[in-house]
Amino acid sequence: MMIKIAHLYPDMLNLYGDRGNIIALTERMNARGIEVQTDAITMGKTFNADDYDILFIGGGQDFEQDVLLDDLKKGKDVQIHNAIESGKVMLAICGGYQMLGKYYKTYDGKMLEYMGALDFYTEGKPERMIGNYAYKTKEGIEVVGFENHSGRTYLGESVEPLGKMIKGYGNNGEDGTEGVRYKNTFGTYSHGPVLPKNPKFADLLIAKALENKYGKADLAPLDDTLEEKAQQQVMKLYIK
Ligand code: GLN
Repeated sequence: MMIKIAHLYPDMLNLYGDRGNIIALTERMNARGIEVQTDAITMGKTFNADDYDILFIGGGQDFEQDVLLDDLKKGKDVQIHNAIESGKVMLAICGGYQMLGKYYKTYDGKMLEYMGALDFYTEGKPERMIGNYAYKTKEGIEVVGFENHSGRTYLGESVEPLGKMIKGYGNNGEDGTEGVRYKNTFGTYSHGPVLPKNPKFADLLIAKALENKYGKADLAPLDDTLEEKAQQQVMKLYIK
């Protein structure tokens, strides 16, 4: 078995080690005998989403998000939009998450029109929302992460939140939601990176990618002692 990952803008969007998510996915698949190939999709590079099983985009500062907009609108936006609708697996972090929505109005009033692939919008405020935080998905997976964003994200009717807040700000610090979920696309404010210390979340993505490609996913359990310890430590120090 072989899974192909497209890493969108790895050189521009990689805050707080977001590329660690690719490493976690790769290691967890390799440990189960699944081959992984990752391609860097940089600015100016042609991108056909059909060539990939998982799309990943990390977070960035307002500046990078603005710079990338032109490139995004030269066709990558349509590719990503169609991939999301077709049920392809996608993980988007913070700034990359915001870019899937309709727009991001920065705290200093700049309007960035995004791809509108998902039904939500983001508006920035001068006070940033920073800290270790945790949320729970509908599968009951408790995810720990680190958030640092000015943008407040508000979800529309046609998407669901990725999780309910346990502690921290999440989407906007008001409605108790975190991230977005639509078909097999997941957006979250969790930097850190999120997947190495949340192996169940990583496996959820892997299982969905395998089901899409091979019709089934039998994921052999791995020894997650260290990952669970890391998660428990974050929970103990900052959350519960
Ligand atoms: N620039 C965005 C914000 O401040 C995203 C930041 C990030 O990716 N950490 O809201």
